[in-house]
Amino acid sequence: MEKRELVIIGAGPAGLAAAVYGRRAGLDTLILEKGIPGGQINITDEIENWPGTIHSTGSELGETFRKHAEHFKAEFRDCTVQKIDLRDGGKFVVTDKGEIEAEAIILATGASFRKLGCPGEAEFTGAGVSYCAVCDAAFFEGETIAVVGGGNVAVEEAGYLTRFADKVYIIHRRDEWRADRLAIEQALANPKIVPVWNSVVESIEGEGVVEKLVLKNVKTGEVSDLPVAGCFVFVGTEPNVAYLQPENSVVKQTRGGWIDTNDKMETSVEGVFAAGDIRDKYLRQVVTAAGDGAVAAMAAYAYITEQLHLRSVLIDPEEVVALFTSSIDQGQVQLQVAAEKFAKESGKKIAFIDGYRNGKMVEKLGIAKLPTIVEMRKGAMVRSAEPTTIEEIKNFLA
Ligand SMILES: Cc1cc2nc3c(=O)[nH]c(=O)nc-3n(C[C@H](O)[C@H](O)[C@H](O)COP(=O)(O)OP(=O)(O)OC[C@H]3O[C@@H](n4cnc5c(N)ncnc54)[C@H](O)[C@@H]3O)c2cc1C
Repeated sequence: MEKRELVIIGAGPAGLAAAVYGRRAGLDTLILEKGIPGGQINITDEIENWPGTIHSTGSELGETFRKHAEHFKAEFRDCTVQKIDLRDGGKFVVTDKGEIEAEAIILATGASFRKLGCPGEAEFTGAGVSYCAVCDAAFFEGETIAVVGGGNVAVEEAGYLTRFADKVYIIHRRDEWRADRLAIEQALANPKIVPVWNSVVESIEGEGVVEKLVLKNVKTGEVSDLPVAGCFVFVGTEPNVAYLQPENSVVKQTRGGWIDTNDKMETSVEGVFAAGDIRDKYLRQVVTAAGDGAVAAMAAYAYITEQLHLRSVLIDPEEVVALFTSSIDQGQVQLQVAAEKFAKESGKKIAFIDGYRNGKMVEKLGIAKLPTIVEMRKGAMVRSAEPTTIEEIKNFLA
């Protein structure tokens, strides 16, 4: 079976940044992508908030990210990931083109905006229809625009959009918003915001760019035109996680299916990291996705290095004695120094492992307390003790 060090799933900004960092750290890096490398930005014509590039189309920026990863010899594969299999202590990525065993995996499959599904929506995406106020608000300076939705994001983003637009309609299917009270109060007090209650968008129309929305009042059935230059859709986003079999909880997810990580991008599964829009996070943008990708790759590098080192020291040898101590406990540091001196003088071989930094290995071996000394044969622990003095260590080795 194919075996790789780092497998990255998704070649959006997060996955491509991770590939650059992974390759530069010397990892054998494979990046799996089912569509066009670049990710979601491929569908926008205007990116103005990627530092160092005042203006770019999304596809141009995505292309530079891809070239950058290729420059450092990341390997790309055009395939769809169907499943992550965790079995026999290994991590397997199942794709429509075969299975790959990985030392570490970075999940970077992004998110998708929920769509309205009405005629004109797909046609005008990037030409007046947007799903991102931070990205596109500045293009509607002085214009009349609409927001569709009634939750916090819709109501708050409408407020943000009034910094640019002269008038912002909020179209909602009910007769009150579902947002927090404070957000609602602020929106209702904003003279540029005009609620349109009990209404749904039937179609989005125009010549090349958005010119009007056709609305239907769900109570009266009345159909009317609403002239606008733009339409921001905030009816929710969802992470692309179907391949993680959310029903089996392969990795821990928060409400809505977002992946739960710590600040090293570690998920609940050792050696599986997540980066970019797929994560439970505050701001979903290119710059934050790329930052996550860099962190995930460096954390994966540290994880792989640690695993390889521990394997060569603990698991691969026929026989080994290892002393696990904590590097943040002064008494244990002194005990290790004494044991190192004894090993040198007596010619006994001892592997010294910082149990504080290698918590996952400590857990795997079932070590309950530090310091602990273990004897391993062919990767399995045959005996152990919890020494507190150098004499006890000497007795263990006798
Ligand atoms: C219209 C629009 C405009 C935007 N404008 C801006 C902007 O101006 N500035 C900004 O900073 N951000 C903008 N964003 C947001 C930005 O695009 C995202 O924050 C960013 O792309 C997230 O990167 P990512 O790598 O996490 O995920 P994505 O970009 O979503 O990439 C994920 C990749 O994973 C692949 N994938 C998914 N599932 C699988 C699978 N099972 N197998 C293999 N591959 C898979 C997808 O094909 C995709 O290429 C915009 C988004 C949209 C939709």
